[in-house]
Amino acid sequence: MIKTPILVVGAGPTGLMLSAQLHRYGAPHVIVDRKDGITALSKALAVQARTLEQYRQLGIADTATDEGFVAGSVRFVVRGKTRAMIRFGEIGAGLSPYPYLFILEQSRNEELLRDYISAQGGAIKWSSDVVDLKKSGEGYTGTLKHGDGSTEAFECDYLVGCGGAHSPLRHMLDMPFPGATNPQHFFVADINIELEVEKQGLLLAMNRKEFLAFFPMSGPNQYRVIGILPPTVADPDNFSFDVLKTHIDEVLDIPARITGHSWYSGYRVHHRIVDTFRSGNAFLAGDAAHIHSPAGGQGMNTGLGDAVNLGWKLAAVVNDWTDARILDSYNEERRPFGVQLVHTTDRAFSVMVSKSPYARFFRTWVLPVILGTALRFKPLRRIMFKTISQTRISYRDSSLSDGSGPPALRSGDRFPWFEWEGGNSFDWLSGVGYVVLRLGGAASENVPGWSGPVIEVDVTGAAANAAVSAGLPQSGVVVVRPDMYLAKVITR
Ligand SMILES: Cc1cc2nc3c(=O)[nH]c(=O)nc-3n(C[C@H](O)[C@H](O)[C@H](O)COP(=O)(O)OP(=O)(O)OC[C@H]3O[C@@H](n4cnc5c(N)ncnc54)[C@H](O)[C@@H]3O)c2cc1C
Repeated sequence: MIKTPILVVGAGPTGLMLSAQLHRYGAPHVIVDRKDGITALSKALAVQARTLEQYRQLGIADTATDEGFVAGSVRFVVRGKTRAMIRFGEIGAGLSPYPYLFILEQSRNEELLRDYISAQGGAIKWSSDVVDLKKSGEGYTGTLKHGDGSTEAFECDYLVGCGGAHSPLRHMLDMPFPGATNPQHFFVADINIELEVEKQGLLLAMNRKEFLAFFPMSGPNQYRVIGILPPTVADPDNFSFDVLKTHIDEVLDIPARITGHSWYSGYRVHHRIVDTFRSGNAFLAGDAAHIHSPAGGQGMNTGLGDAVNLGWKLAAVVNDWTDARILDSYNEERRPFGVQLVHTTDRAFSVMVSKSPYARFFRTWVLPVILGTALRFKPLRRIMFKTISQTRISYRDSSLSDGSGPPALRSGDRFPWFEWEGGNSFDWLSGVGYVVLRLGGAASENVPGWSGPVIEVDVTGAAANAAVSAGLPQSGVVVVRPDMYLAKVITR
C-alpha cells in the first residue's frame, strides 16, 4: 500500500519536472508511470529560453546547453529555389541568458530531469499504471497495476495527472476536454538527408500545393520533417517510408539524398483545453490539460512551465509553509496562457498547411518579407523572442499578484534578466524560497502568509545600477516568488 501526500501520475517531461520541483522544495511524493523507462523517441525538439531558465534554477541548464545546439536561421525554399534566408541568431540578446532558439530532443530533456531526481535521492516507479481511482474525503484512493500483473493500492491527499493527451486520469476525474481535431492527416519523420544547403536552422520547403518543415537534429545529416500526408497514402495509420521519401523529394526539389530514417509516424493535430486545471485536490498538467499543433515548439515547454508553477505551491502546502488556498492560483495563472496558446498555434498551423491560394501566397511571398523585416527592428525582434521563448508569460491577474509596481515591471511579471560586471540577476534566484531584494538601503518586507524559506539580498554597487536600468526601483523592495515571478515591487 502506497500512502503519500502527493501522487504524480505520468513521468513524461511534465511529471518529471513536477517531481524535480517537489524534490527541490523537499516535498514527499510518489511518481509513477506505466512505461518501463523514459521515452526513446525524439518527440519535442525545441527547448524555449524560459525552460532553460527553469533548468538553470535546478542546476541542469549547462548540461542541456552543452548537449543541444542553437538553430540560428530559417531558409524558405519555394519550388526548389531559396527565396529567403533569414538569420535570427541571438534574437533575444539582453533579455535572457539563452537568447536563441534551442534544440534538444525530448528524450534528452527527460534524461536530464530523471538524473536530477536521482541525484536528489528520488526514483520513478516505472511499470505502474493507475487503473482505478476513487475520491476519499479530500484525497484519493486507487489501484496501480504493475508490469508483472500484480496490483498495489494507493492513498494520497493530492493527485496530479501528467498522463499526456490521452490522460486516463482526466477521464477518471470526469474532466471534459473540449476542442476539435483538424481534418488533415500529418506525418512526422526523423530522417538522414544529404542536403547541399548548410545545416544551420529551420528549412521550410513549399511547392504549389504542399508544405514541409525541416528541423535540424543532433546527428550530422539528421532532420525532423513534418508535413501533410500525400494523397497517395490510402491508410494514414499504415504507410511505407518509401511514399514519404518520394513526397519529400518532390516538395523539396533541391539536390538532396535521403539516406535513412530512424522514426516516422502519422498523426492528427488536436486543439483542446480542459475547462479547469483543478478539480478538488486533483490537478492536470501538460498535455493532459492542453493539446495543440506543434507550430512554434511550445507543447513540452508549456507542460514544464505548468509543473514549475504547481510544484512550489504544492510543496509549500504539504510542508505547511502557506495556506492551501494558494493552489487556486495554479488554474488562474496557467489556464489563460493555455487558452491563448491553443488559439494562436492553431491559427498559425492552419495558415501553414492550408491549400487555399491566399494562404499559399502568404507563405511563399508575404511571410519571408514580414519575418525578414520584423527581425531588422529591435522592438519587433524582442516581441517575437519574448512570445516564442515563453519569457513574456505574466501572471498579473492572479490572486497572488497585488498590482504593485510600475507599468513595465509589475507584480506577476517574470523577474528580468540583467548582468553587471561579475554578476547577474538570476544568480539571486538560484536558492529555494521567496527572495527579498532590498535596494537603496530600504528596510525589508515580510512575505505575507508565508513561513517557508526567504532569502534576503542587499542590492548595492554595480548590481544596483544594473537593477535600476532594468526597471527596478532605486530605493525600495522587490519580492520574487520561488518560480522567479515578481510578487511585490515597492518604491520607497
Ligand atoms: C512529433 C512531435 C513533435 C513535437 N515537437 C515539439 C517541440 O518541438 N516542442 C515542444 O515543446 N513540444 C513538442 N511536441 C509536444 C510534446 O512532445 C508534448 O507536449 C510532451 O510530450 C507533453 O509532455 P507530458 O509529460 O505532458 O505528456 P507525455 O509526454 O505524453 O507523457 C505522459 C506520460 O504519462 C504516462 N501515463 C499515462 N497514463 C498513465 C497512467 N494511467 N498511469 C501511469 N502512467 C501513465 C505515459 O506513459 C507517459 O509517459 C511534439 C510532439 C510530437 C508528437
